[in-house]
Amino acid sequence: MAHDRIPAGAGETSATLQRLQARLAGDRPTNLGFPSTLDIDYTELWPFFNVVLNNVGDPYADSAFPAHTKDLERAVVEWTADLLRAPAEDRWGYVTTGGSEGTEYGLLLARTLHPDATVYFSAQAHYSVAKAATKLRLPAIVVKADRQGEMDYRDLRTVLGRQRDRPAIFVATIGTTMTEAIDDVATIRQILAEVPIPRSHIHADAALAGIPLALLDPADRPRFDLSAGADSISISGHKFIGSPFPCGVVLTRRSLRARVGSPVDYLNTVDATIGGSRSGHAPLVLWYAIATLGVDGLRQRLEHALAMAWYTVDALTTIGWPAWRHRHALTVVLDTPPQAVCDRFHLATSGPISHLICMPGITREHVDPLITALAAARTGPPAGVPAAPDTADPAISHPRPSAQPIVATAGR
Ligand SMILES: *Cc1c(COP(=O)(O)O)cnc(C)c1O
Repeated sequence: MAHDRIPAGAGETSATLQRLQARLAGDRPTNLGFPSTLDIDYTELWPFFNVVLNNVGDPYADSAFPAHTKDLERAVVEWTADLLRAPAEDRWGYVTTGGSEGTEYGLLLARTLHPDATVYFSAQAHYSVAKAATKLRLPAIVVKADRQGEMDYRDLRTVLGRQRDRPAIFVATIGTTMTEAIDDVATIRQILAEVPIPRSHIHADAALAGIPLALLDPADRPRFDLSAGADSISISGHKFIGSPFPCGVVLTRRSLRARVGSPVDYLNTVDATIGGSRSGHAPLVLWYAIATLGVDGLRQRLEHALAMAWYTVDALTTIGWPAWRHRHALTVVLDTPPQAVCDRFHLATSGPISHLICMPGITREHVDPLITALAAARTGPPAGVPAAPDTADPAISHPRPSAQPIVATAGR
């Protein structure tokens, strides 16, 4: 029976819900292509879903609407700010509807500061970046990406050289959608200084990889956050952290955002965010995930996920199916399998390459059936163009996970 109309009575309502539940449970073990997690139980929060929670306006400003979770929201923002190394005395942020809103906020802030700027992002940036630039009527220039998905800095230098007279807004992608490549924020900063372009803003779109990268040993950590030269940064809450619905966090320096947002008298708060009314449940859920897992728990999940990614590349290589991953990536890139296999495991595909993402909660039980299916498909000649890039490139090495746990870094 079709679900796309409102049921006629209570019996039909519960039948529809049961079918929905069965469909979702059936997809869960084979949902490997998209970055959702499988391992957090939110049952303890159920009572709060019978309460209206609205964090209207600035999380740091009180509001006339009493049913809010702004204190928890501030805790989430501060925790994320510690992890992403925002300056302790000069930080601000809020819980968004997702990574896309975070990037839009970063661009809105940047445009307010530099109204005559051009925005730059790589060909591998998320589709939401071009969408936000168009919405904000920012002239955009797409910079080339290399074969593994990272911004081509030589191309960036050339392109910027022709635009010296205009301020530059960047969106650096921290974990591209197809290969989880990481643009180097410090290199972008350096190129800006060399050209030179005196007025600029860098937004780091760290929707997928921001939290896992921030959990690495500091010596291993790529240069992507506020301490590396970003002016604003956004993450998704429904990816690594594992919220059951889309949400995210955006951060910037308080001194930068001072010019965006204005007071609304009847609400007794400052309208400093993209939305008006904002979810009070999203901060609650993020707060709960962070509070129950803690940095140590999140790090354990990361270690497990990295070990699974390593295992998956190894298993694919063993059966002769070309596969690789970036050094810190949970994303495993492989030659595109036959359509039936892509469909069954919900793999994300872009032409000759596909990927799966070893999110927390993915185990051999999920990966091994894929390996078996590909081994069976492997009897014919290889399908499509080889995805395996130049293995001499150290950026795409695939190191065995170290015996040592990933420990001791910033954050509480
Ligand atoms: C997922 C993702 C987005 C979009 O984030 P949403 O939370 O889905 O809005 C943006 N950029 C990158 C790099 C992503 O991985």
